[in-house]
Amino acid sequence: MRVVTWAGVDRLAQQETPIPEISDGEVLVRVSRVGICGSDLAILRGQHARAETGVILGHEFAGTVAESRAPGGPPVGSQVAVRPLIACADRGTVPPCRACASGNAHVCRSLGLYGVDEPGGLAEFVAVRAGAVHPVRQDVSPELTALAEPLAVAVHAVSRSGLTGGESVAVYGGGPIGLFTALVARHRGAADVVIVEPNAWRRGVAESFGFPVLDSGVDTPAAIRERTSGDGADIVFDSAGHPAVARQLTEAARIQGTIVIVGVYKSPPEVDLRTVNFAEHRLVGTRVYSRDDFATAVTLLENDDLALSGLPTRTFPVAEAADAFAAAGRGEGSVKVLIDPSQNGDDR
Ligand SMILES: [Zn+2]
Ligand SMILES: [Zn+2]
Repeated sequence: MRVVTWAGVDRLAQQETPIPEISDGEVLVRVSRVGICGSDLAILRGQHARAETGVILGHEFAGTVAESRAPGGPPVGSQVAVRPLIACADRGTVPPCRACASGNAHVCRSLGLYGVDEPGGLAEFVAVRAGAVHPVRQDVSPELTALAEPLAVAVHAVSRSGLTGGESVAVYGGGPIGLFTALVARHRGAADVVIVEPNAWRRGVAESFGFPVLDSGVDTPAAIRERTSGDGADIVFDSAGHPAVARQLTEAARIQGTIVIVGVYKSPPEVDLRTVNFAEHRLVGTRVYSRDDFATAVTLLENDDLALSGLPTRTFPVAEAADAFAAAGRGEGSVKVLIDPSQNGDDR
């Protein structure tokens, strides 16, 4: 089968490898679509802490079960989205770490991912633990199914925020995670959701989903206070992970408001912790998603509750994987760039 591996800084390699053999408790997934995300771009640039050259990339993937050695798991032919987390408990570590033992395997002390620590989805087939696959209704498109992973990140962020309905919300960053976070917050009853984004194309997409948007070039904390009777937002999500944003979060949140860090910073940013003191801000971290968050994301996609079937996406054949990564890096023209690993550019 054809696979795409990371070959070093700014280098991908297309290789032929044998189809993986599955062990007891695993399923073989025939991959239909793989989404490319910021952490894949970080791996490509050599900025990821754990990835090693030779790894088959891709952690946002969907497909169908081609073979199963997991009785009781989804039958052969089922469409599935893969929750790509590998916790110490999954590796059979005894005793498991404290996070795993307390039912929080998504923050396992030695959390790994398919596509970073184990072979990922940029392959015709991938072997995964049966516990990692979530069945998705057959009539949901493969493009939508592959959005389950990034959507689960947004579901988790909103769950962690404590949002109950009626809140004013500001989301810094209008990429896929920021847009999905805004959509989930609105779906859960937020009264007002504004998105801050520097890229005009992405602002246009956010507007097409009905959100008011702010260009990050303006004084965004002032604009957010203006929308909220001078108070600031009840909940501020940081889906940007940009040092310039870190300084604004505490200005954009109201007194006793909540700040949720979703985007991953490449290096520790400067944050105004003095304002966190005086305003009694609640500062909340988030990492990936729980099993329940992922199941919620699948349900949202199956019902198209967030109208994500209208999301601008673009699918590249696997032979053009390098072009796909370049397109994802530009962040324009499609909110999500996907690769179809079954396609061979030659037959188009
Ligand atoms: Zn990702
Ligand atoms: Zn663990």
